[in-house]
Amino acid sequence: NQPLSEVDPDVSRAIDQELGRQRSTLEMIASENFAPRAVLEAQGSVLTNKYAEGYPGRRYYGGCEYVDVVENLARDRATALFGAEHANVQPHSGAQANTAVMAALMQPGDTLMGLSLAHGGHLTHGMKINVSGKLYNIAAYEVDPDSYRIDMDKVRETALEARPKVIVAGWSAYSRQLDFEAFRSIADEVDAKLWVDMAHFAGLVAAGLHPNPVPHAHVTTSTVHKTLAGPRSGVILSTEEFKKKIDSAVFPGQQGGPLMHAIAGKAVAFKIAASEDFAERQRRTIEGAQILAERLNAPDVAEHGVSVLTGGTDVHLVIVDLRNSELDGKQAEDLLHQAGITVNRNAVPWDPRPPMTTSGLRIGTPALATRGFGAKEFEEVADVIAAALKPGADVDALRKRVDALTEQFPLYPGLEEW
Ligand code: PLP
Repeated sequence: NQPLSEVDPDVSRAIDQELGRQRSTLEMIASENFAPRAVLEAQGSVLTNKYAEGYPGRRYYGGCEYVDVVENLARDRATALFGAEHANVQPHSGAQANTAVMAALMQPGDTLMGLSLAHGGHLTHGMKINVSGKLYNIAAYEVDPDSYRIDMDKVRETALEARPKVIVAGWSAYSRQLDFEAFRSIADEVDAKLWVDMAHFAGLVAAGLHPNPVPHAHVTTSTVHKTLAGPRSGVILSTEEFKKKIDSAVFPGQQGGPLMHAIAGKAVAFKIAASEDFAERQRRTIEGAQILAERLNAPDVAEHGVSVLTGGTDVHLVIVDLRNSELDGKQAEDLLHQAGITVNRNAVPWDPRPPMTTSGLRIGTPALATRGFGAKEFEEVADVIAAALKPGADVDALRKRVDALTEQFPLYPGLEEW
């Protein structure tokens, strides 16, 4: 019963240092967030000890009466939150949720149609060396070269040509809403199933600030740790029709014992996501991204070759286009890192620079909205980023402005005493 700091001072120190890093920098990686104390507690609980292969009421192990309560809460809350007929809350991650969906809906060699990775899709939507690209035939659709938006006429053309078994709508780096109704009608036209991967925007959907894909899709997947701000993990929502196939694709198809401590964290996160506080936070998230887009599109920044892809955003992130800037994605990421702002470089469609360098940045606002940022603070952050992307930026002065913001919005106050 010794504490971590005594059993393993090396791991303990690294965790303390990571907490310090999270507290002293501005987290703007679009896929990250800060899980609330209640979720951290659930994840650090004795549920980690329990084997529970199977599903509530049908387990392959004894002693599952309490973990059944937890998993039923998570399932019921997920279905209620998104209006789904069925939820599988066992996937360990978004990637595993996606792999299970493909296994449930396709046979190896069948065609999957998804947004190209180079244009904002996720690697589980058909990247060559991901299991999706290895097992299935991939037909990728792209964004329009002028608007950088997904053009549904082109999606339809690709579908008519490729005749996919499954169409996936969803993205990791795209700043606009998708037309789920149009996706479903194309899927129906070519006799394909529609799978929506809402990993990035699920929190916005939960808050009613983004169209809900669930009524249109046969199957919907999500991570729980991005805008949803829960534990690092995945979830699958489906119609009653696909319930059996999805459940058996997850267990025993992909996984053994579920992570019951993570499932407890998911139950808590879904409860919180149904609250008005959560919706208010999602409103600040989108407002912050729109402030950022406006500021990074302003003439004083544009004159240095910096712009925002699609000209703005409807969601929690912006994609900054650096193709005409002297800075490449890696240099811009490093500069912002020095200023205390964490973002990730990201390829833009038809990026002339190599994938390790890129010509773009993906900047997201969910974590800062969780930290309490509102319009005023997002304006200040946007100004700091805009200044950093101009030639000759005074990085030390910018770091001081970042420090002032981190001090004004303490992260996990008192965590040491929990
Ligand atoms: N789907 C989308 C759209 C994503 O953006 C991501 C992660 O970035 C995933 C799935 C995979 O989630 P995980 O990292 O939990 O495997």
